[in-house]
Amino acid sequence: MQRISHWVNNKVVVGTSGRTGKVFNPATGEQQAEVDLASTAEVDAVIAKSKAAFPEWRATGMSRRAEIMFRTRELLDANRKELATYLTLEHGKVPSDALGEIARGIENIEFACGIPALMKGGYSEQASGGVDVYSIRQPLGVVAGITPFNFPAMVPMWMFANAIMCGNTFILKPSEKDPSASMFIADLLRQAGLPDGVFNVLHGDKEAVDRLLVHPDIQSVSFVGSTPIAKYVYETGTKNGKRVQALGGAKNHMLVLPDADLDMAADAAVSAAYGSAGERCMAVSVVLAVDSIADALIEKLASRVPNIKVGPGTDPSAEMGPLISREHRDKVASYINNAAGEGATVVINGTDKAKDAGFFLNPSLIDNVKPGMKCYDEEIFGPVLTVMRVKSYAEGLKTINDNEFGNGTAIFTRDGGVARQFQYDVQVGMVGINVPIPVPVSYYSFGGWKASLFGDQHMYGPEGINFFTRGKVVTSRWPDPRTSAVDLGFPTNR
Ligand code: NAD
Repeated sequence: MQRISHWVNNKVVVGTSGRTGKVFNPATGEQQAEVDLASTAEVDAVIAKSKAAFPEWRATGMSRRAEIMFRTRELLDANRKELATYLTLEHGKVPSDALGEIARGIENIEFACGIPALMKGGYSEQASGGVDVYSIRQPLGVVAGITPFNFPAMVPMWMFANAIMCGNTFILKPSEKDPSASMFIADLLRQAGLPDGVFNVLHGDKEAVDRLLVHPDIQSVSFVGSTPIAKYVYETGTKNGKRVQALGGAKNHMLVLPDADLDMAADAAVSAAYGSAGERCMAVSVVLAVDSIADALIEKLASRVPNIKVGPGTDPSAEMGPLISREHRDKVASYINNAAGEGATVVINGTDKAKDAGFFLNPSLIDNVKPGMKCYDEEIFGPVLTVMRVKSYAEGLKTINDNEFGNGTAIFTRDGGVARQFQYDVQVGMVGINVPIPVPVSYYSFGGWKASLFGDQHMYGPEGINFFTRGKVVTSRWPDPRTSAVDLGFPTNR
């Protein structure tokens, strides 16, 4: 059985805890590897190595740091296909999804290459007589990233690119369900010339996370995962004095108004709901259809869904792969199977496919969904699109704003004025106007509102640079070269 171990000081380090996790091939349902799960002592040892690497890395010039990031970008670009094979093998996503994830991840590497410009501070000459004031940004020290199973390459890139370019040393605790992508990326960073100890990968579960959250040498924690764990990570990390950004789950609504291009809306909803088997935090999981067009829209959705080709990512014609695990597949199936009993209408039931050996489901479509039903109230995180019928724009907006989550949303309309009002009123962090999955480009920042994010700073982009640095303001006065007279009084405006 293949064994996946930690990555410390640019080498593979075999775990000593005696605990391992199972890594499956979701397309076959078989275990294909075991992954070491770190003990508290192993976490401490990696933190010590990261701490030792920090002073020299911090002192490394920004242009040298950027040069390493440029090389990393070239290596990632040249190895897209190989990296994608790990995503298909362990996560199950089809190659187009895997390559899409890698492309969106590389954007963050490209953004971080601009670090000399991104770390610029401000300067005020002659704030007072002979006194200049300037601001600088400095790295935090050892920082940690804890990532989910659904984007095993992209989400780590959201975090580590900015973190290490700002001069921090970084410990990645990837999902134990698909840990190989992070090892492959770690080796590319080594090849790019990243010094030992600047980027370490520690595999593990709750034990490793809990140690990272309390260890005094961890300065910040970036987390992406489900809402209950995000809340726990935020509360525990901040209680222990750490800066924390913790992104949680989602329930993303797409509001379709009567004037929308219904074919465009149906195409968008289908790709946004079932892409990556619905295991995306920005997946559309609820279409809010205004009554007058609801029947027509359902018909268009129902005619498209059966055309989606479900199969293993190794089949070049497959468009949608399996789910991550047997337990998750069964949980998703339970939402579909219980929906009719709750009063919803199951238009297409994809649970037949659950008989396959792999963790497959076919896409499902559920109409007449309402708040109070489990399939609406909970995040399903699978290939299930639900439709709620609403009387008006106002009811659609209220439904979105009443929801506990606020990650992404979209409106489909031809009316610019209504779209603008929606963008103004909706209580969601990322908004699409005729765009179903509005994941911001890397020079903006990513983050939801409400139960989709705990913390003040969104991830990557300019807020990522803020998160991974601390501001310092310097007030300086130099002896007047003509008189060499120093005024030791408190600097005041005069
Ligand atoms: P998860 O919360 O189960 O796991 C995320 C990470 O937390 C993993 O590294 C895991 O090892 C660790 N973890 C799990 N249980 C823990 C515990 N009890 N204590 C400490 N650490 C623990 O999430 P997942 O199933 O890997 O990912 C899917 C979830 O992530 C979905 O809810 C999805 O919406 C969310 N997600 C959100 C975003 C976003 O940007 N908001 C992006 C991707 C995924």
